[in-house]
Amino acid sequence: MLLYYLIPNKLVSNVFIYEYKVNPKPQQITAIDEAIRTSQFVRNKVLRYWMDNRGVGKTEMFRYNTLLRKEFKFVEELNSHACQTAVERVLKAVNRFYDNCKKQIPGKKGYPRFKKNTRSVEYKVSGWKLSENKKNITFTDKKGIGTLRMIGTRDLNFYQLEEIKRVRIVRRADGYYVQFSVQLDPRDTVKPITPSQKAVGIDVGIKYFLADSQGNIEPNPQFYRQGEKQLNQLNRKKSKKYRKGQPQSNNYRKARERYARKHLRVSRQREEFVKRVALRLIKSNDLVAYEDLNVKGMVKNQHLAKSISDAGWSKFRSWLDYFGYKYGKITIAVSAHNTSQNCSNCGKKVQKSLSTRTHICNHCGFVEDRDINAAINILQKGLSYEVQLGGNLRSDFALSTVGHTESYKLGEFDPLASLE
Ligand SMILES: [Zn+2]
Repeated sequence: MLLYYLIPNKLVSNVFIYEYKVNPKPQQITAIDEAIRTSQFVRNKVLRYWMDNRGVGKTEMFRYNTLLRKEFKFVEELNSHACQTAVERVLKAVNRFYDNCKKQIPGKKGYPRFKKNTRSVEYKVSGWKLSENKKNITFTDKKGIGTLRMIGTRDLNFYQLEEIKRVRIVRRADGYYVQFSVQLDPRDTVKPITPSQKAVGIDVGIKYFLADSQGNIEPNPQFYRQGEKQLNQLNRKKSKKYRKGQPQSNNYRKARERYARKHLRVSRQREEFVKRVALRLIKSNDLVAYEDLNVKGMVKNQHLAKSISDAGWSKFRSWLDYFGYKYGKITIAVSAHNTSQNCSNCGKKVQKSLSTRTHICNHCGFVEDRDINAAINILQKGLSYEVQLGGNLRSDFALSTVGHTESYKLGEFDPLASLE
């Protein structure tokens, strides 16, 4: 039995993050770090307060924040809204914890924890000011960060000041960034594109990143595996320099930074890759059907762990849904059940092991690459969902599946069973 639900527009994120690199001077770095540390201090203090007084809610937490501002000068120096966002971070963690308890998810419930390495401080609509040309930002609270020139190609002049809801300073392995979160509908920024009259099904594989029902194959990007080798080396170097129970050396700190920089580069490459593939698929098709895989379950499986996490499948899927929404295309998640076993030509079951790369049907004689055969099945499922839904399926709704066939239960999904 399959169930469906429609995701209304507003659930597709319409918050955009624009990011600029900044090159603060040494004394500005000190001030930024101090602001970040203060926001972490507020967060941890409020969390402590919640732990010691279980049952306190939002109001008490904000009131406690006000007390902190009176008690500590360095807290008072940080913009009051920035302190509030630190409290909101605690609230979010606490609510997530309560939610998990309520849902009775087995295992860890995510009890809120103290933060040691906060990397950002978040302002709301006050405490900062943009220059006339919107190329410089000045932080106006008493932390003394001052003016930063923003490096980046995005033109903020495109937006009204009141569309900017949050401003964040982020510290990364390779320097500092200023982020603006702007609230707007992605559809407002694009012209509708001419329908392609095409639909596509895609199968994410182990051998390839994906195969589609039109017979195209997108190979796995090599950079991650190469990058991973280097990452492992850097990680080993880092561990060698680690001194247990002692203050860490400069060499350890350097090794750790090198590792973090590499990690950042690799994850950026991966994100760029999946984004590019998703955009291409959405632009050249009107409907994209993909497998509703349980990535969490799959990554747990040792054999598949590398390829799956490599491929960034869940990131890819979010980009597909996002671009689908943006360009008014339909994305459908279908159950993965039997998609690789059945013959896409006659519908009969053709048992094959994971190592069999070619689908050869002994009923109708159809021969095709195993993943392309699966992709065709996925497309057919996707199209049949659309038929079942009939008039309900509108292009301004993204479609997703929640129910699963009896052999495919959330949380206990054995990837090998469906791939065999
Ligand atoms: Zn067949």
